[in-house]
Amino acid sequence: MTRKGFLVLVAITALAGCSRPTPEQQFVNDAAQAMGGAERIGAVKTLVIEGGGTQFNIGQDLVPGASGQTFTVTGYKRAVDVQGGRARTELTRQPNFTFFQGPAAQKQVAGLDGAIGYNVAPNGTATRVPDLAAADRRTEFLHHPLTAVRAALDPMARLANPRTEGAESLLDVTTASGQAFTLAIDSTTKLPSRVVTTADNTNLGDVAISTTFAGYQAAGGLQLPSDLTTKTDDFTTQQIKVSSQTVDGDTGDLAAPAAAASAPAVSGPPPVTVAEEVLAPGIWYLAGGSHNSVLVEFSDHLMLIETPLNDARALAVIAKARELVPGKPLTQLVNSHHHFDHSGGVRAAISEGLTVITHQGNAAFYEEMAKRPHTIVPDALAKNAKPLTVEGVADERTITDGKMTVNLYPVTTAHSQTMLVAYFPTQRILVEADVYTPGAAVFMYAADFMAQLKPRNLRIDRIAPLHGKVAPYAQFVKDASAPPPATN
Ligand SMILES: [Zn+2]
Repeated sequence: MTRKGFLVLVAITALAGCSRPTPEQQFVNDAAQAMGGAERIGAVKTLVIEGGGTQFNIGQDLVPGASGQTFTVTGYKRAVDVQGGRARTELTRQPNFTFFQGPAAQKQVAGLDGAIGYNVAPNGTATRVPDLAAADRRTEFLHHPLTAVRAALDPMARLANPRTEGAESLLDVTTASGQAFTLAIDSTTKLPSRVVTTADNTNLGDVAISTTFAGYQAAGGLQLPSDLTTKTDDFTTQQIKVSSQTVDGDTGDLAAPAAAASAPAVSGPPPVTVAEEVLAPGIWYLAGGSHNSVLVEFSDHLMLIETPLNDARALAVIAKARELVPGKPLTQLVNSHHHFDHSGGVRAAISEGLTVITHQGNAAFYEEMAKRPHTIVPDALAKNAKPLTVEGVADERTITDGKMTVNLYPVTTAHSQTMLVAYFPTQRILVEADVYTPGAAVFMYAADFMAQLKPRNLRIDRIAPLHGKVAPYAQFVKDASAPPPATN
């Protein structure tokens, strides 16, 4: 540092030392004071929160935007090493609806140890999560008043834009490591009321993730919230009611398990493989990943059934379709249902000029999805804006050129009420998503699905599922008649 630079630094330090706090600093000081003081907050080493609550099924409910499907959360325990940037959340969730994995309770363990995020399966196997998921957990780390105010008190934090909205005062904070969040405090009590961060959602684009704090109570010389409600935009994803919180108690071992710590980082998207298989002349099964698609050749155009997951999968499937039949335009996408994993590539299909054919109950959702901003992670449609043409199917629809015929039928099960299945009457092939997955451990919707097909008197030889492998119809009949699993 030059002598002049040093003098400037001394002057700034002196000024900061003896001048009145800025409005931004005053905001943080007020919040810290209300919680028990900056000194107490700075001294806290660990926090253990225990309780229970509810999780909701964002993007996977019966109809777009619905929030009727819930999981009851028990045994919630979040242990945080406040100073070391480590945290581990354990919980057990029990579905309160007909869940595709069955009615059994599921135990989940998710951890963060610095740069490493990890999950521990019920059998004890630990796996490292992709870097993007670990980054989400570092953001989640700030979604509590203790960690958020502590981060705002750091002299290296940048504080900006103090403002008042309704009964809250808000401040934008950027931590020394570059994490940005908005801290809201109750304008009267000065206690933190919310933390808001922004995130990219494959389907929804730019979203606000917020955690609202209420029910403050004394713990370890601090005021800490006993109600934590997390939302993605306006959709509530989790409500936790705290039954006990311990400051500077035993967190157990928060180090990443060896198997996760020694695993290589997963930074980019997983490789996309599209493997084609001819189901019949003019009908290709496009598999090779977790979600399949089907390509259909008509006399003057091509149709894809499903562009799943995300841009990468959808664009690879679209490229494969054009490679298999280079002479004809790909103009139609038939989308099975609105669930985020099955609609994650709809925006990519729009960017490639495809008309979207879906259950009528999904049309408004896709119109909104097509308009949403994707500025945090610009996707194919953000980079190549195209108008959306969506065709809703209410009852049933036949698409035919006289030789190739596809019938689309709506199906309403406990999995989704806005679903289409596709039937090829000549080839006797049925294409469906999620209502029957050959090889699955349980078949929660298969019997209902079969009952709905029955009045149509379809002649089906093979099921080409959008998950799993092609199965003979007899296999479907056998699996659909299997007794449902018992609730535990
Ligand atoms: Zn689904």
